Amino acid sequence: MVERKTKIIATIGPATGTRETIGMLVAAGMDVARLNFSHGDPETHRTWAAWVHEAAVEQGRAVAVLQDIQGPRIRVGTFPGGSIELAEGAEVELLDGDGESSAHSIHVGHLADAHLSAGGIVVLADGQVYLQVSGGEGSRLRAVVTQGGELQDRKGAAFPGADLTLPAITDKDRADLAFGTEMGADLVAASFVTSAADIEAVRAIVGDTPVIAKIERARAYENLDEILEAADGAMVARGDLGVELGYEHLPLAQKDIIARTNHAGRISITATEMLESMTSSRRPTRAEVTDVANAVLDGTDAVMLSAETAVGRYPVRAVEVMSRLCLEIESSPTYRGGPDVEYVRSDTGFSSAIAKACSDTADSLGLETVVAFTVSGNTALLVSKYRPRSRIVACTPDEGTYRRMALMWGVTPLRFDRLESTDEMIAAADRVLREHGLVQEGEWVAMTAGIPPNQRASTNILKLHVIGMGAAGVPDR
Ligand code: PEP
Repeated sequence: MVERKTKIIATIGPATGTRETIGMLVAAGMDVARLNFSHGDPETHRTWAAWVHEAAVEQGRAVAVLQDIQGPRIRVGTFPGGSIELAEGAEVELLDGDGESSAHSIHVGHLADAHLSAGGIVVLADGQVYLQVSGGEGSRLRAVVTQGGELQDRKGAAFPGADLTLPAITDKDRADLAFGTEMGADLVAASFVTSAADIEAVRAIVGDTPVIAKIERARAYENLDEILEAADGAMVARGDLGVELGYEHLPLAQKDIIARTNHAGRISITATEMLESMTSSRRPTRAEVTDVANAVLDGTDAVMLSAETAVGRYPVRAVEVMSRLCLEIESSPTYRGGPDVEYVRSDTGFSSAIAKACSDTADSLGLETVVAFTVSGNTALLVSKYRPRSRIVACTPDEGTYRRMALMWGVTPLRFDRLESTDEMIAAADRVLREHGLVQEGEWVAMTAGIPPNQRASTNILKLHVIGMGAAGVPDR
């Protein structure tokens, strides 16, 4: 069976929040289930997380749970009847903070912190409505609607170009993160971060759980290098980033973020509106399939579905479409998983050098399988970043690592007992790979590990191994 290399993240929501549908999403190819803590109550998320883990065990697959926290999202207030219609050219008053609003007077959170003056821009509802400030100051401004449209209760607001510093995490995020750790979140996505310090603030709460930085503010894009130093991955959060940068800048920013994230040895995710029309249609548009294809060709580690699976009419079908598409693009002889990564930074440098050698060796010998032994998942991640053509079977004794590796490009996670010596490890891998039908007797595989085993040693060996020959088997070819 051809295994898909690009991973699929699907957001669980009202359309998918049953045990049966979650099982269907896993069967369709969902590698990571995203729980969006901007919506819903924590107990519902806890139930969904348990169902994801349960369905994964049932189907013998690694599936991770990604907790996406809301972050310091700026919102408008509420309206009588739930929404208003703003006509182009209309004048409105903007007031700082949360509160009952109307078509004439709209509350916007953090308005005063943005220090807007005449000419400043306020974007509402992911770019549906644009306002231009015409006067006033501080917490009370006047503005003209330059692009009209519907505005619903508590929709997002952005101040492109404003010098706005918000707290990295809110009290709600703090409570949600503590809840997520207890719930068993495998990964965390941090919204509206702008600096490495913001990532550190999240890490201080979640400990070893990997943190994905959502790049959705212009400032986050400006500070991408320092954010990548601190985070485990970056998500091109195209909804908000498109508003902040302006749509025309998004395609090149996406390519740049994916390339720099991969180069830094971090996980890259492309998100938002990938198959948006499938929220109500059985088939995607031609533009959408081409967009997904381009993200895959750019070398994204994972593609993400949001509304398509959270509230859409065809959630399972959306995952199936995404999976088929990725496989088709990956089957092209020209597909390489993005531009070659020259050298991935790693703590010692050893790890990168060995991982690169492993990937190059597997490619030059035409091997079908690379085996990475890993406790933290780092060995598997590094090999993945060099994009070998072979599958990467990542053996780990750690349950959390097993699930987290579901997000890594080209990686097939495998549970593996803790063993004391390198020889035992190799012999056991030989047996387990055969049991899973992943290799044939006499087949060559490349193995890489940090030895001694179980000590979080950096990746430091590369072994060529002939299946069925035991640990001492020395290939002679
Ligand atoms: C986005 O803006 O593209 C995004 C993924 O963030 P949110 O969770 O706010 O949709």
